Amino acid sequence: MRITRLVCGHCGDILSGLGQDKLFFCSNCGRGWSLGEKGLDPMQVQCRAPADSHLPLPFWMVRATVHVLKRTVRNEFTATMLKFGSRYEEDVLSAKKTETGGRSDRRTFLFPAFPVDGLPGTGVSLSEHIHDLPNKLGAGDPLPDICGGYISPADSVVLARCVAVGQETEKADWLAEIEIVLSSVKSTLIILPCIPEVEKVAIAETGVSFFRRSVPAWSGIIDYQSSRA
Ligand SMILES: [Zn+2]
Repeated sequence: MRITRLVCGHCGDILSGLGQDKLFFCSNCGRGWSLGEKGLDPMQVQCRAPADSHLPLPFWMVRATVHVLKRTVRNEFTATMLKFGSRYEEDVLSAKKTETGGRSDRRTFLFPAFPVDGLPGTGVSLSEHIHDLPNKLGAGDPLPDICGGYISPADSVVLARCVAVGQETEKADWLAEIEIVLSSVKSTLIILPCIPEVEKVAIAETGVSFFRRSVPAWSGIIDYQSSRA
């Protein structure tokens, strides 16, 4: 395990994490920092995991305006496929499409700030439980040590769009094509208390969990947390 040692630009405390980490949380003053090409850039952070939580992990909360420019749905898709069998012809099916779009709405996305296989799916589930998160810690409350923040602020915007696409594909219709762009994007790092179970890890009280084997950095995260316990 390689540990990167950096210093908080606000209080001068040492920031630590795993070798590949790009996001740092100062457990002394509560500031957040992202590692850019020129050093550490300040970043918005909210801590919702108490200092004694077993497994505090970083997540991205991204607020954005979602513009659905075009949404094309196939009509009678199943019936058509049965009728044409393997002779799938785009020009025959093209008449059976409905195109909508041109709508915008504000959404808030929540997803891990560390790589997880199937991250957009976890993000779709987690974004439905934004109102079930534990409260922010009060001023002066002791703060936890975290590691594992690997997804940069720039990548958080890309992944928020993936989650938005995931939300569209989950609707009960035959989505054929979608064009989505995000604007007015604001990303905040959120530290949430997680609970290790047998094979899974539960994310706070959201009812959403992920398999520990689907996190490539899992053993590093566990080694880091147990060395600080
Ligand atoms: Zn600090």
